[in-house]
Amino acid sequence: MSDYSYPLKDAEFIINDLIGMENIVDEDRLDEVNGELVSAILEEAARLGTEVIAPLNVVGDREGATLDENGVRETPGFADAYRQYTENGWSALPFDEEYGGQGMPRILGTATEEIWQSSNLGFSLCPLLTHGAIDAIEKHASGELKSAYLPRLISGEWTGTMNLTEPQAGSDLAAINTKALPEGDHYRITGQKIFITWGDHQMTENVIHLVLARLPDAPAGVRGISLFLVPKFLLDENGEPAERNDVHCVSVEHKLGIHGSPTCVMAFGDSGGATGYLVGEPHRGLMAMFTMMNVARQSVGLQGLSVSSRSYQQALAWAKERLQGTKSDGSRFPIIDFPDVRRMLMLMKSGTEAMRGLAYISSAESDASRITSDPGQAAKHTARLELFTPIVKGWLTELSQELTSYGVQIHGGMGYVEETGSAQHYRDARITTIYEGTTGIQANDLVGRKLLANKGEVLADLLREIQETSKALVATGDLSGIGHALQQGVDTGFEASQWILDNARESRDVAGGAGVNFLMLLGYVCGGWVMGLSALKASEKLAAGSGDEAFFKAKLITAKFYSEHFLPRAGACLETIKAGPGSMMEMPLEQF
Ligand SMILES: Cc1cc2nc3c(=O)[nH]c(=O)nc-3n(C[C@H](O)[C@H](O)[C@H](O)COP(=O)(O)OP(=O)(O)OC[C@H]3O[C@@H](n4cnc5c(N)ncnc54)[C@H](O)[C@@H]3O)c2cc1C
Repeated sequence: MSDYSYPLKDAEFIINDLIGMENIVDEDRLDEVNGELVSAILEEAARLGTEVIAPLNVVGDREGATLDENGVRETPGFADAYRQYTENGWSALPFDEEYGGQGMPRILGTATEEIWQSSNLGFSLCPLLTHGAIDAIEKHASGELKSAYLPRLISGEWTGTMNLTEPQAGSDLAAINTKALPEGDHYRITGQKIFITWGDHQMTENVIHLVLARLPDAPAGVRGISLFLVPKFLLDENGEPAERNDVHCVSVEHKLGIHGSPTCVMAFGDSGGATGYLVGEPHRGLMAMFTMMNVARQSVGLQGLSVSSRSYQQALAWAKERLQGTKSDGSRFPIIDFPDVRRMLMLMKSGTEAMRGLAYISSAESDASRITSDPGQAAKHTARLELFTPIVKGWLTELSQELTSYGVQIHGGMGYVEETGSAQHYRDARITTIYEGTTGIQANDLVGRKLLANKGEVLADLLREIQETSKALVATGDLSGIGHALQQGVDTGFEASQWILDNARESRDVAGGAGVNFLMLLGYVCGGWVMGLSALKASEKLAAGSGDEAFFKAKLITAKFYSEHFLPRAGACLETIKAGPGSMMEMPLEQF
């Protein structure tokens, strides 16, 4: 057992009450996939998470993964936990039934993923990347590759990796050098990839690498990159792993956190070339890889929530136990009675609830786009999901830096030493703003592709919807304070996007300088929207006398706190955006 417990009530509230089953499940499946089934699935996942995966979190941190002549040896205990994870069908939950998936809504994949991530961030990265590989293969690979690889990836018998980064090509993928030479029905891949998460391990019989490389006739830049599937073991005529392919992990990084997740340097073709198969069209690999990256970006955003939620639970338990104040009668009281400790706990509680709501609502857009038969509606849901992706990735992970830091702060000195485990959450959270595109890269995507490219229409549509929520809150009377704060947040959103639209043409520095503040502004406002929706629903439930009264009352307080402590930050972001890039770009280099 561990100290972690999944906040099931909050998840049920978001899925059943805020989103609604009818928006994520086909009409004809509503009898089968209903609120009861959702609860049963989440309870079962939480059992595996808390009893099996979470106790290995500290083991992963202390013992990590090692490399020997047989390749990477994962943390002791992980293989058995992974076996239980796959045997119970968790890896197949949200995938297409055609290839052995269970065809459950994506949002259930997201909710269960929160459980694996909160339980053990290092462990959860293995299924995370497999998930992305499945989506990329499903969408872009040939029928033959799909039949050979998808069923075993979906069942979890094999795992997947994502091989983009090279020493000279990090954020800038145009610099990729790995080569692919055609040879009959396949290609010979040579090159080195660095920082490859779960690039090797012994938990499964095969590891399937998705690799970006260049064909001999490739044009320069990102338009000359192709995507290849490179298995660790080549398949024999029966589709079973047989001959060892020429791809090996040559070292494992020592790093700040997520020690349970092996971060590998991968050598392709040291003995002549690794056999690889083209996925999708030649030179269109980056587009195919974006399918994988977008899934992974949502999942990494979710990591920001998951690690903060675990950190919060631990800080809360500590704050209730740690005695520091002394009353006039000489008795001592716990630190949770101090307003400043309350402030930090409420920032953690309201922050994580807003993050969860936004991550789940975003995931539900993917279900909504699948179940509608109206192409216009499907396009709208897809555009909303694309808009949410950099916000979920960027805002949730940036906020997790602050929240996990409060987790340490609430522990005082015991937070700084490793004994309590709070420091691990803080260290583990640090990577989330870096991989899958740094926050700077998310901001570029948000401003470039999601604002300037469509003149802000998709964003304006979202802001108008948030405005409706603020009006509904104001109209209740009781919740009008939350409504006014949200309205101000929406106004800053409109003003900031208009300012960027008006000024971006002046120079590239305008959008580049404003991006991260714009992303954070929208994150705070979207979080305020989720909390506003939650307050409306909670108050409706309280008036109807239905459900858990204490939970709904707490939700109202949490929403109010969020509106008072997080929403005003949107105004500060706006002021910074409007100051423009002058003071950051004017400084002569030699004066830094
Ligand atoms: C633990 C770990 C696991 C990883 N897992 C994988 C994996 O599985 N597969 C994989 O392919 N890669 C993986 N990566 C690599 C990761 O995705 C990159 O580290 C990340 O994309 C940043 O690239 P970089 O390290 O080269 O930094 P750089 O690109 O050098 O960035 C350095 C700084 O410059 C900024 N910057 C760079 N370009 C721009 C720009 N255009 N606009 C604004 N700011 C910019 C960045 O925001 C950052 O602050 C992993 C990395 C780590 C540390």
